[in-house]
Amino acid sequence: MRSEFDFINYIKERHQLKAIGDDCAVVPKDSLSDQLFTVDLLIENIDFRLGWTAPKMLGHKALAVSLSDIAAMGGTPKNALLSLGVPDSLWKTSFLDEFYEGWNSLAGEIGVELVGGDISKASELVIDSFVIGEVAKGKALLRSGAKPGDLIFVTGELGGASLGLLLLENGTRPGGNVEEILQNAVLRQLKPMPQINIGKLLSEKELAAAAIDLSDGISSDLAHICEASGVGAEIDASKLPIARGATLEMALNGGEDFELLFTVPPERRSEAEQLGVVEIGEITETASQLELVEGTERRRLSRSGYRHF
Ligand code: ADP
Ligand code: MG
Repeated sequence: MRSEFDFINYIKERHQLKAIGDDCAVVPKDSLSDQLFTVDLLIENIDFRLGWTAPKMLGHKALAVSLSDIAAMGGTPKNALLSLGVPDSLWKTSFLDEFYEGWNSLAGEIGVELVGGDISKASELVIDSFVIGEVAKGKALLRSGAKPGDLIFVTGELGGASLGLLLLENGTRPGGNVEEILQNAVLRQLKPMPQINIGKLLSEKELAAAAIDLSDGISSDLAHICEASGVGAEIDASKLPIARGATLEMALNGGEDFELLFTVPPERRSEAEQLGVVEIGEITETASQLELVEGTERRRLSRSGYRHF
């Protein structure tokens, strides 16, 4: 069966939609800047479970996932629209008040203004989060700029959100009585923090040749960069910043860490290191071939990150 990625590639080719394929659409604004548009759909029991989170955290996450796409393009988020499909059972409670509190708290921190949206009734909660950002003209970070020899960097730690999901599946709840490492992992899953400042710096300094946010897992998201750039990649397992308690597999294939992955020309390594990011590998020539080096062993990294279909 075709995956959602196959489907997107198909409609892109079939209808010659050149603008599709990056974390945000880039639309010219004026002589100085471009606009960035991104939209994310979160569906109850597919993308989240109400019993595992708190309304405020869900509000935070609904905005954070879209801000992460703006970060991946090196942009500054400006405005947002938020559409909700709400079941009757939630409409009667304080759920939406708390949801908007969580949404607004992150929006205030980042400086995003809610300028509209829509509300309808649904059998399960549906959240559609649309964010508009801005970036200096021609300076949006794309997935297509990686070159052989570029170094691959990531921000933050990996696999924490995936560990958090496993813990939630096994009954751990936010604020519950488990050790700090596990509680942090649960929060990584439920309340991700988008890397807007690093994204902006990468664009301003023209440091990143290509970038993406880690929403589906490295094995999947790095594959997007490789496909778009016509290159391959090699990851050094020993260099991966694995979150405490998480496994190598979680760091490679676990989604929703919402860190940034980007490539930097080798002569600019020290500038990248000054940002406190971690080098994990190198871009290679063989198109779309992803390899993992573990000591003296080398294996093909197949794309096994999160996918809906
Ligand atoms: P992300 O994980 O960064 O949100 P996706 O994998 O959802 O990105 O989407 C990849 C690209 O495909 C993006 O450019 C997105 O705008 C586009 N896309 C996704 N779904 C659709 C759709 N139904 N119609 C048109 N474009 C889509
Ligand atoms: Mg993305």
